[in-house]
Amino acid sequence: MAVSHPERVVFPDDGITKQDVADYYHAVMARFLPEVEGRPTSIFRFPEGLAKPGFFQKHPMPGLHDTGHVRLREESGQLDDYLCPGNASAIIELVQFGTIEFHPWAARADALEQPDYLVFDLDPGYGVPWRDVIEAARLIRDRLGKVSLRSFVRTTGGKGLHVLVPLHATCRWEDARHFSSAFAHSLADERPQAFTAKSAMEGRTGRIFIDYLRNTRGATSVASWSLRARAGAPVAVPLRWQDLGRCTSGHAFDIGSASRRMARLRSDPWEGFSTMRQGLETAMGHYPPMK
Ligand code: ATP
Ligand code: MN
Ligand code: MN
Repeated sequence: MAVSHPERVVFPDDGITKQDVADYYHAVMARFLPEVEGRPTSIFRFPEGLAKPGFFQKHPMPGLHDTGHVRLREESGQLDDYLCPGNASAIIELVQFGTIEFHPWAARADALEQPDYLVFDLDPGYGVPWRDVIEAARLIRDRLGKVSLRSFVRTTGGKGLHVLVPLHATCRWEDARHFSSAFAHSLADERPQAFTAKSAMEGRTGRIFIDYLRNTRGATSVASWSLRARAGAPVAVPLRWQDLGRCTSGHAFDIGSASRRMARLRSDPWEGFSTMRQGLETAMGHYPPMK
């Protein structure tokens, strides 16, 4: 795929160019595109590479031809256009405009009030060993399993892991927020030395923040297979639960190893995710909304 300024160095410490970024997205497109296609999607742009500050953007900019948008009501009540990529050309066009990271909503543009997955974003505070992050993800998987919810895990390309729960189309943002909040607070109450459900940085030292705030209308999480604008060009990679024990950090995969992993994959590590229909009724009975 041709981009302008292909030789421009985007990751200065790693010598990775704009062409490398375009080639990466091209190589993973078949699995990456469904993660963002038809969803309002924020982008994290670095038009001059990581040596200069980047910015998050959710609205379309002038000059886009291949990238769609969706008009939606913001939390403020205002209507505005949001970026909504619909095909591979849109992804490459956004890369052309300096995009490194892609962050979709957990809802599709044609069903904006219906989140179709939950995200538990595990954010380890200073001093938390990686083993404990893995154990936390497994604990969350087991607890979700007890209320009949299957979950899936990915690296973020950063410090932690995301645990996702695919949802039935009848779920609403309010259900997603209430359940995920009650679930996170219940774990934190039970194991206050290990977990916190509060975002305050002070409470995070030595603990894992179970960030359930991704499950709010208008919030985003990084897409699986998205590159991250961090040193080493790491990638958010979906894993099978049985492979998690061999994963050495949240940024264990980078632009090179992630595309090699994709090329080797014989089946989807998240087999069943997109067709799994799970309701929150039973789960909410066990974790009623907090007052
Ligand atoms: P890590 O494992 O390092 O925490 P992460 O992707 O989970 O990686 P977080 O800081 O926990 O990073 O953020 C969770 C999500 O919140 C991000 O993936 C992104 O979608 C969203 N987010 C974070 N910061 C911003 C921001 N400044 N503007 C818009 N969205 C953001
Ligand atoms: Mn996180
Ligand atoms: Mn977070």
